[in-house]
Amino acid sequence: MKNLSRNIRHLSLADIEEYFTAIGEKKFRAKQVYEWLWLKPVGSFDEMTNLSKENRQKLKDDFTLPTLKTDHTQHSEDGTFKSRFKTHDGHFVEGVLIPTASGRYTACVSSQIGCSLSCKFCATGYMDRKRNLEFDEIYDEVVLLNNLCEKEYGKKLSNIVFMGMGEPLLNYKNVLRSIERITSADGLGMSPRRITVSTAGVAKAIRQLGDDRVKFKLALSLHAATDAKRHDIMPINDSNNIKTLVDALNYFYKLTKNEITLEYILFKDFNDSPKDADELIKIYRQVPADLVNIIEYNPIDFAKFEKPEEEKVEAFMAYLARNKVNARLRRSRGKDIDAACGQLANKDNH
Ligand code: SF4
Repeated sequence: MKNLSRNIRHLSLADIEEYFTAIGEKKFRAKQVYEWLWLKPVGSFDEMTNLSKENRQKLKDDFTLPTLKTDHTQHSEDGTFKSRFKTHDGHFVEGVLIPTASGRYTACVSSQIGCSLSCKFCATGYMDRKRNLEFDEIYDEVVLLNNLCEKEYGKKLSNIVFMGMGEPLLNYKNVLRSIERITSADGLGMSPRRITVSTAGVAKAIRQLGDDRVKFKLALSLHAATDAKRHDIMPINDSNNIKTLVDALNYFYKLTKNEITLEYILFKDFNDSPKDADELIKIYRQVPADLVNIIEYNPIDFAKFEKPEEEKVEAFMAYLARNKVNARLRRSRGKDIDAACGQLANKDNH
């Protein structure tokens, strides 16, 4: 038998079959174990109730089964939930469940513990990046938020966005592998069209997504439409400027035919003027974007930015509409529990 990972969730079904055969057990036991790992995930071997006591003990001797645990959950007055999850090695990440009036139940999940990109408006950007989340940890976030959704709303998740803590494309392999599990028939069986990966703009990885012919949706956090302004708020723009990103997005579209979404947070007196809207429209016309999400800014303690006045937001939206941009205003959700976009920072709110 080949040298197997100690973490049983990092094994394929074929690996587990090989293991059971090697210990003189029936091969179908592997399928039973695999279902406990992915279809109805459990946190310990003892919960695998259709295995004999001896088999469970043998698995305990040979493998580990590290899973993410919900440490704390907060409920916003607008129906949003924020969960803080604890990893097996004592780190914390956050995920958010957002119900909408249109009947959607969206999970916003994290891909890294902390983040290295230091976007100036984002609370996570002020934390150090501790490590990448493993694909099974990301999968657990989705399962735990799905369980919460079923418990609170009697519904399954309808959408998943990778917009929580971390830059998903700097944890490329684990993010793609988690999506493979989320969409797999022996995982959550969700359509990839209901999953959006949002990036701060890693051009090389966007091209790789094209080469990998991914089926999920891609969103670019643009937030400023000139290099000078983007440099001020997103240091990643120095190595991945707007032209490089535009080229990468067109390459991605050529190979996948997946249109992308542009995300644009409005900051008072920074990117909310008609001139800024013109710059945004220019980029919108250069990339295969079917939508621009204009996002209401949520102030955080460390940053100097503010939210524009309502009239300015309306004027910005009207300007885009007059120029035939398909734009949607996204009001922030879960502000009272620091669950809104850019606010995730493992603050202790007990
Ligand atoms: S916005 Fe995203 S990429 Fe930027 S610091 Fe926050 S988590 Fe990282």
